Amino acid sequence: MKRRQPHGIPRAGQLMAGLAAVAVAGGILLSYQLVALRKALEADVRVHASVMAENIAAPLMFKDAEAAREILRSLHPAPFLVDAVVHDGEGREFAAFHRAGTQQPALAPASGWLGRVSIKLPVRHNGQDLGQVTLRADTRAVERGLGNYIVLLGLASLGALLTSAVLTRRGRVRVARAEQELAWLAYTDPVTGLPNRRACQERLAEALDEAGQDGGQVGLLLIDLDNFKVVNDTAGHAVGDELLRQAGERLHGLLGETGLVGRFGGDEFLVIAPMLDSPARLRRIAESVLEELRRPMQLSGMEAIITASVGSAIAPLDAVDAEELISFADSALYHAKGQGRDRIGEFRLQMMQTAQRRARLERELRRAIEGEGLDLFYQPQFDCASGEMVGAEALLRWQHPVDGFIAPDEFIPIAEDCGLIVRLGAWVLERACADAVALSAATGKALSMAVNVSARQFREKDFAAIVEAALAKSGLPAGRLELELTESMLMADVDSAVQFMHGLRRLGVRLSIDDFGTGYSSLAYLQRFPINQLKIDRSFVRPLPAAGQVLASAVITLAHQFGLDVVAEGVEDEAQLAWLRDAGCNLVQGYLLGRPMSLFKLLQLQQQPQADLQH
Ligand code: C2E
Ligand code: CA
Ligand code: CA
Repeated sequence: MKRRQPHGIPRAGQLMAGLAAVAVAGGILLSYQLVALRKALEADVRVHASVMAENIAAPLMFKDAEAAREILRSLHPAPFLVDAVVHDGEGREFAAFHRAGTQQPALAPASGWLGRVSIKLPVRHNGQDLGQVTLRADTRAVERGLGNYIVLLGLASLGALLTSAVLTRRGRVRVARAEQELAWLAYTDPVTGLPNRRACQERLAEALDEAGQDGGQVGLLLIDLDNFKVVNDTAGHAVGDELLRQAGERLHGLLGETGLVGRFGGDEFLVIAPMLDSPARLRRIAESVLEELRRPMQLSGMEAIITASVGSAIAPLDAVDAEELISFADSALYHAKGQGRDRIGEFRLQMMQTAQRRARLERELRRAIEGEGLDLFYQPQFDCASGEMVGAEALLRWQHPVDGFIAPDEFIPIAEDCGLIVRLGAWVLERACADAVALSAATGKALSMAVNVSARQFREKDFAAIVEAALAKSGLPAGRLELELTESMLMADVDSAVQFMHGLRRLGVRLSIDDFGTGYSSLAYLQRFPINQLKIDRSFVRPLPAAGQVLASAVITLAHQFGLDVVAEGVEDEAQLAWLRDAGCNLVQGYLLGRPMSLFKLLQLQQQPQADLQH
């Protein structure tokens, strides 16, 4: 993970800037201080000089040099005064004071680097000039004062610099901490504490780079929890999060330091196994992942059993680029899910082609829903005993502009995966109900209409409202609409399925279990489901009457005991039809009696009643 450099001026630069600021301020203060001190000295000397000029007038008038010297000696306590000289009216030296240790005024060199301060004042009495007094002062006191000031200033500046350094450092620490936190958030999934999608992508790219340099292999696993959505939808998001957290913990515990585990998004985890010695090793890791996740989990008091599907791909065998490797592992995962989940899919090139076709069909299906190409076909259903047509099953057809006819077994799972089935299903319901009314009107029979419902539609909260709207719009009596549900979609969450089915039954629609015999086929559950009808799957009908009679008649008998009607689908020959009729099967549907066809074709056929039991 790359760390960002802190912004702004580097540390040494900041110090230099601080020093420069202190130097400029210090220079200004020093100059001011120098001028002020010198001015104060001058003022002092001037005061002394004027006192002297006043006091020296009398001795000068009476030419009493001794008295004058006595007065001058009174300057002794002012240490800065170097000498004082009194000249008489003719300019002759009359009296002088020289501080001990200083030389004669004429010979004395300028003291200190500031030179000397000299003040000359006239001595007057009654407006008459008697002479003048000159006082000279040493500037060493000013220099000393300045020196002290410099020391003080230095100490103050140092203090200021230190304080600012401490404050800056503290600020830096705070910024660094904030940056660390941001980096953590940017690279970590908050629910599981594992590296997030972005971190996974970067780490994979790094691992691939390293492997590229020393010729190693990198294994990639994409892990998708099979039943996460059900847990999340039924037990709530808090439990869903807990499930993700525990799954992440288990994966992390399993891989330890030998690989990286991250949350790739939603209920998908990613494992990077660097320095892989063989594909078999990756397979073993994938197997232990499945095993580890299969152990029951305790989720807020309840036990959940989770299975997962895994897609695996290896660099450089399958791909060398991170993005491609991920997309290949994703295709393999998709394949594993398609094969029935709870298993491992290893990437094969052909999967890529399948995935590409799926992606293309998904795009085109979206367009088909908005425009043309999708149609409903109807396969007639007949009463076994009377041979009369009693209804039809609506089956989707997609006429692709380039690929031609695409089977619903291919495009319905695509629509389910991308959620399009919700819109598509609503359209089917509306169309099928309207066509049922048209068909009934044309034939004069109260025909019923069977519509297939996918798990995804069934989970939509407003599904019942969609059904109700389709009935209301078409005017089809609710009792003539039959919704075909599959066992697997009901078994995912039996309690809420039962509740939902009751809601639909309250509308008055009939419910039927499709493809019976291919899923759980749990007759115990059948009792709990408020259904009206069972559709025996084609695979049970195919071997009849030569084989499979025991199973078929057991199912028919049991269904009747539960008060359910039985429909046999996939009836292709007369012998099957005869056997089913004898076994008490209620309705039949199959190529023998009528293939799925357009509404127009079905109407045409209905106008020729003798075509009833022949195609
Ligand atoms: P399904 O609900 O089991 O539909 C019956 C399938 O069996 C239909 O395939 C039908 O054409 C086919 N079939 C009918 N009689 C015979 C026969 O005598 N022999 C043989 N071999 N096959 C027969 P189809 O139309 O290809 O549909 C496949 C599946 O696609 C359907 O299976 C259903 O699960 C799904 N499907 C179709 N339309 C819709 C729809 O509108 N919504 C949803 N959710 N699923 C749909
Ligand atoms: Ca069906
Ligand atoms: Ca079926």
